[in-house]
Amino acid sequence: MAEWDHVTDVVVIGTGAAGLGSALTAREQGLDVLILEKGQMVGGTTSLAGGGMWIPNNHFMREEGIADSADEAYRYLDHVVGNEGPATSPARRRAFVDTAPIAVEFYEKVGMRFRRTPGYPDYHPDEPGGSKVGRGIESQIFDMRKIDQYSDRLVRRAFPRNMPMGTLDVAKMVLARRTLTGALTYARIFAHFIWGKVTRRKLAGGGAALVGQLLYQTMRRNIPLWTESPATDLIQQGDRVVGVVVEHEGKTVRVQARRAVHLGGGGFARNAEMRKRYQPAPVTGAWTSASPSDTGNAIMLGIAAGAATALMDEAWWGPASVLPSGVGVFHVSERSKPGSIIVDQNGARYMNEAQSYVDAVHAMFKHQKDGAGGIPSWLLFDQRYRKHYPFGTLLPGSTPRQLVEAGYFKRANTIEELAALIQVNPSKLRATVERFNAMARSGVDSDYSRGANVYDRYFGDPRIKPNPCLAPLVKAPFYAVALYPGDLGTKGGLVTDEDARVLRPDGSVIEGLYASGNTTASPMGRRYPGPGCTLGPALTFSYRAMMHAAQNRPTSSTGSSSSALDTSPRTLASAVRR
Ligand SMILES: Cc1cc2nc3c(=O)[nH]c(=O)nc-3n(C[C@H](O)[C@H](O)[C@H](O)COP(=O)(O)OP(=O)(O)OC[C@H]3O[C@@H](n4cnc5c(N)ncnc54)[C@H](O)[C@@H]3O)c2cc1C
Repeated sequence: MAEWDHVTDVVVIGTGAAGLGSALTAREQGLDVLILEKGQMVGGTTSLAGGGMWIPNNHFMREEGIADSADEAYRYLDHVVGNEGPATSPARRRAFVDTAPIAVEFYEKVGMRFRRTPGYPDYHPDEPGGSKVGRGIESQIFDMRKIDQYSDRLVRRAFPRNMPMGTLDVAKMVLARRTLTGALTYARIFAHFIWGKVTRRKLAGGGAALVGQLLYQTMRRNIPLWTESPATDLIQQGDRVVGVVVEHEGKTVRVQARRAVHLGGGGFARNAEMRKRYQPAPVTGAWTSASPSDTGNAIMLGIAAGAATALMDEAWWGPASVLPSGVGVFHVSERSKPGSIIVDQNGARYMNEAQSYVDAVHAMFKHQKDGAGGIPSWLLFDQRYRKHYPFGTLLPGSTPRQLVEAGYFKRANTIEELAALIQVNPSKLRATVERFNAMARSGVDSDYSRGANVYDRYFGDPRIKPNPCLAPLVKAPFYAVALYPGDLGTKGGLVTDEDARVLRPDGSVIEGLYASGNTTASPMGRRYPGPGCTLGPALTFSYRAMMHAAQNRPTSSTGSSSSALDTSPRTLASAVRR
């Protein structure tokens, strides 16, 4: 048997943002690339995402005259993320803020189209360096027909499958029953959807459009993609990774990667064993919204090659409910809408319900650890809330009887009866609701400051005054839904440096091995600084990785030519212009 069955420069593992971003970058630097996808479906968790990308100091902001800078963003990350070990090192944070806008210009240069998400603020807008107007961008609406055979093979949610809408549209649409802008947005999206059908296009927005665009650009460049081809092992020569073992078309195939192997295989949200081993109890992965493909393979490949890991106890957390079918529903806007509160198993409030989703789950864990019964917690709301706002994918006002009978919605005519249904002390719950109602009427949550910053208010209801996040719970029936520590995926993984090279526990580089996205420990540490803080860094570090690999020509099978490469932003910028 020949030593290699297939030879290329770069082997990319995964068809999410991390994998496809690195494939495109490598190809544009003149390298031969092979993309591997373990499943028949493509796009991973990326294709399920809202698709926002946090890109500080991006050119859209500059064009609109909005002041921002890498220094401001760095200052913000310094305050919000802080020092959480090697993943969040100053060098990596600096690399991210310096390169993110350059990377976006690169992706545009290869043919992708983005737009700003104005008004979606940083999640801690009042921290030093925080932005109240937002640093996010997203994919423009994309016609999935362009990706031909893959258009029906994206991992997708039932809704908004094939809907031509973006991040900002979602925030407006949830107010369709409350504001003219909301109603008009709803009508526009629906008309666009119908127009797409009439013109036989498959219009999509969000993460699906992002994957669609990335995939389309790899197809235009004839980059081979092997689906149903899991990478099962990394091949090392001496200290260097030089190839991959792949299960392909019923055979075990050895693929040489002359320049690099890039791990973009996502995290381990769906691997119950890893979640039990690394994450806080009682997390098992049952409450995640990540793709079924998110089973930790790429992280395990890295560990087997000697890589260090960090932040393995973390995830892109968010309070989630679980439908009787077992599907997790990640709740963002529902927690900010007026007429709702979150209580623990003693019927007490214990957090600002509208805060960032990651912080909300940290509060749940802490409460649980303190013995106060935070898991599950209960999201309580009244009939007015149910009438005005969607809940998960349920339209306003629609509360299917089956969901009540199955116990997903607890429903009662009085707060005391509701307390009995959720096994909470009735007088305690009554006292909590009365205290909250009084604060809601005054517009000031003196306990947890809900609605005090622009992030909280972004998902509020502007028709409710004086605080768009606060309204009393007064109109029967009253509802309760159990909340668990859900997530959008995990954020711990392989430790990488500022060029996305995978590191050993002693800090040395595993030559030839790069990683980005949820396969790696996140530069965002334990926080979620702003909209798109998983996809923004994923695409940025994929870009840095392959810019580095393109310059880093190995001199022998066991070593590399140089470790003193100039990957400064200036060099990267000139590479983009080339
Ligand atoms: C509902 C939802 C909304 C979200 N919204 C946002 C948002 O707006 N902004 C944001 O920044 N983030 C968002 N996220 C999070 C974001 O989607 C993920 O963090 C991100 O997509 C991870 O990208 P990735 O490329 O690392 O992994 P993935 O997109 O999961 O891709 C990994 C791919 O690798 C493949 N793979 C794994 N192992 C192997 C192997 N051994 N061989 C071959 N292939 C393999 C997998 O099958 C998969 O296709 C959201 C997530 C969800 C669930």
